[in-house]
Amino acid sequence: MKAIRVHEFGGPEVLKLEEVATPKPSASEVLVRIHAAGVNPYDTYMRAGTYAVKPPLPYTPGSDGAGVVEAVGEGVKRVKRDDRVYIARNLTGAYAEYVLAREEEIHPLPGKIDFKQAAGVWVSYGTAYHALHHWAKARASETALVHGASGGVGIAALQIARAIGLKVFGTAGTPQGLEMAKREGAHQVFDHRKAGYQEEILQATNNRGVDIILEMVANVNLSHDARLLASNGRVIVIGGRGEVAINPRDLMARRASIHAFTFWDITAAEEADMHAGLFAGLENGTLRPVVGKELPLAEAARAHKEILEPGSAGKIVLIC
Ligand code: NAP
Repeated sequence: MKAIRVHEFGGPEVLKLEEVATPKPSASEVLVRIHAAGVNPYDTYMRAGTYAVKPPLPYTPGSDGAGVVEAVGEGVKRVKRDDRVYIARNLTGAYAEYVLAREEEIHPLPGKIDFKQAAGVWVSYGTAYHALHHWAKARASETALVHGASGGVGIAALQIARAIGLKVFGTAGTPQGLEMAKREGAHQVFDHRKAGYQEEILQATNNRGVDIILEMVANVNLSHDARLLASNGRVIVIGGRGEVAINPRDLMARRASIHAFTFWDITAAEEADMHAGLFAGLENGTLRPVVGKELPLAEAARAHKEILEPGSAGKIVLIC
């Protein structure tokens, strides 16, 4: 089969398309023919060798993908050959024509979601669901600011927040991103490249502040975020690429809190809840993954460059 292989950590150019042996499922494992693989920012940090998780070399990147079950190992009960599925983690890497995964990493896909959309489900929708339900404990009467609403996690967060019933604000940095944030559920959108946009957000709440901020770029925004919160507000840090200084008094004056997590530390109970919520939302139409760009598997290096550039507008997926 064809697969992207990384033999040394480095820039996008270390992603090479190669021919490798197709894996075979052992007991409790499933082989999936991948139709589309999702590209996530953390794939790039891992490839660069700067991430907390460093896989042994060589490796094939990618935790997210969707396709059809090709074969199952002994004892597998939850899926069978030809089932349509999305994967949430795996054993051999999703940037490939086939991927091997544990039975519990394979999840059924509602008929109305195609493989390209499904390739963007796990990390983006799982993260947004985890942030809003498990950390923010969001309630319908609250207001949420999705700070970075045009990207993979942001669009998922808008849709999930709207499904819960919150009033939702979103930010993006381009006209296309702002338009998408509005279309995917933001009641009001703000340009995070415009000087003073934080004041516009406060005014939109009549200076009360927002209850929840989902923060994609904490190193840039966290000090301001503390001043955008209502009483008992909470910031959920999802992304951050560096250090930031904050004034604790901004938090103290608002009984506010900052929570942060990485996706690697979710519990089994949280994960089961996330898949139940995601399947229900995909099935009832409240969750509609948006594919911004499709690239052939051979262009994985281009995908890794473009995902870190400004101007997000949905997920980048590799067609395998
Ligand atoms: P993405 O698709 O590349 O989207 C990035 C988003 O950040 C875009 O909406 C972008 O908007 C926005 N952004 C850029 N500059 C901003 C600024 N100054 N203020 C606010 N937003 C800004 O990435 P993603 O998949 O959504 O992931 C978002 C972040 O969360 C990444 O850093 C990722 O590594 C992290 N993440 C963490 C976890 C975890 O376990 N904690 C899980 C998933 C993702 P424009 O392009 O329109 O400017």
